[in-house]
Amino acid sequence: MFAKPFIIIGAGPAGLIAAETIAAAGGKVRIYDAMPSPARKFLMAGRGGLNLTHSEPLDRFIGRYGAARPLFDRLIRSFTPADLRDWCHGLGVETFVGSSGRVFPKEMKASILLRAWLRRLAGLGVELHPRHRWVGWTAAGALRLAGPAGEVTTDGAAAVILALGGASWPRLGSDGGWAELLRGRAVPLAPFRPSNSGFDVRWSAGLRERAEGMPLKRITVTFRDRTVPGELVITAHGLEGGPLYALSAPLRDAIERDGEAEILLDLKPDLTVSQVQNRLARVPPADSVANRLRKALSLNPPVGALLREGAGDADLTRSMCVASLLKSLPIKLSGMQGLERAISTAGGIRLTALDDGLMLKDMPGIFACGEMLDWEAPTGGYLLQGCFASGIAAGKTALRYAAGH
Ligand SMILES: Cc1cc2nc3c(=O)[nH]c(=O)nc-3n(C[C@H](O)[C@H](O)[C@H](O)COP(=O)(O)OP(=O)(O)OC[C@H]3O[C@@H](n4cnc5c(N)ncnc54)[C@H](O)[C@@H]3O)c2cc1C
Repeated sequence: MFAKPFIIIGAGPAGLIAAETIAAAGGKVRIYDAMPSPARKFLMAGRGGLNLTHSEPLDRFIGRYGAARPLFDRLIRSFTPADLRDWCHGLGVETFVGSSGRVFPKEMKASILLRAWLRRLAGLGVELHPRHRWVGWTAAGALRLAGPAGEVTTDGAAAVILALGGASWPRLGSDGGWAELLRGRAVPLAPFRPSNSGFDVRWSAGLRERAEGMPLKRITVTFRDRTVPGELVITAHGLEGGPLYALSAPLRDAIERDGEAEILLDLKPDLTVSQVQNRLARVPPADSVANRLRKALSLNPPVGALLREGAGDADLTRSMCVASLLKSLPIKLSGMQGLERAISTAGGIRLTALDDGLMLKDMPGIFACGEMLDWEAPTGGYLLQGCFASGIAAGKTALRYAAGH
């Protein structure tokens, strides 16, 4: 049906699903990836249980894509969270909805899913060429790929799909090196910035020593008018965890603008201030803060250390002071962790550079999808769902493009 092969660069979830879409429609597909094996970031995501998508109502789900919502509204409605779960089931991998509404594969890892997926792709005739790094174009416009046996060029593609990922966790393959190549072709790019990353707090040495690695469970984090429930971990640098990831875009913007951002922790969100105060009043005031918190409220030691850190000159022998700090503890975030450890990347190919079918407007026949586009979303399965949905869309429009040429 198609005389020439479709070339896909990048064997992460976006590139692999684009390959499947094209191969299932009868296209011949060659995938190239710089790494010795495919989908390393997908496998790493599996270490945390592989949160594939989310079960919340579709409108709320689509709202998670912030400024990129108009594009993702179309993409996600064409390949919904339910479609993603069906696709997994089709590969023999059952999924379940966790208590938070997040969707995971039953085995809580990516390797079983990836193995079944690669088998399916091989069955469809998809060729995978690892250890081939895309390094640019020849003067005639063919793609140049640096491989173990030297440079190869791919001449005469039906269409090309770029699925090169963002720039976070570069050791897993997506190092953002492609940005230079596209900038050379005047493709509009937004600078890479970390997203879904930990934040810096200037902890005292005492707090770091006492509390590093300890979780703060069932809390809420408020920044301006948004409050997000979840769990945080105290790290040597500051704080990490779902609620901060969910707030990471406005927090990052505030820190870039003002040098810091203040969040409020509610360490006992299921109780009111007066309920907390009443419980504390039942414990002898002579006890240490840590003991009173444990006896009255079943709170672990890091909470006491945190209260002392944020107390300033508040009198922690008074139940009222402790109660109001517990319910609204201010913490100043002084920076964001870098791209090396961020779960995802903001920035990349500006959405205005793409047409409705994810083709680069100024480079006919070249499509882009996945995390290399300029969008961001919190953790919760929105990243993978976005990569899958955009990979499928790019695959479908690449097929239409090739059929018309
Ligand atoms: C620790 C961690 C945990 C995560 N957990 C989750 C989660 O639970 N749920 C969720 O939704 N998301 C999660 N993510 C995010 C998710 O894994 C990514 O959003 C997703 O993998 C991006 O897919 P992609 O196909 O766009 O890019 P990638 O998966 O990054 O793949 C891009 C591919 O392109 C290749 N490549 C790059 N440059 C070149 C080049 N010049 N030539 C050839 N090949 C190249 C790379 O080697 C790579 O294989 C997690 C990420 C991390 C780091």
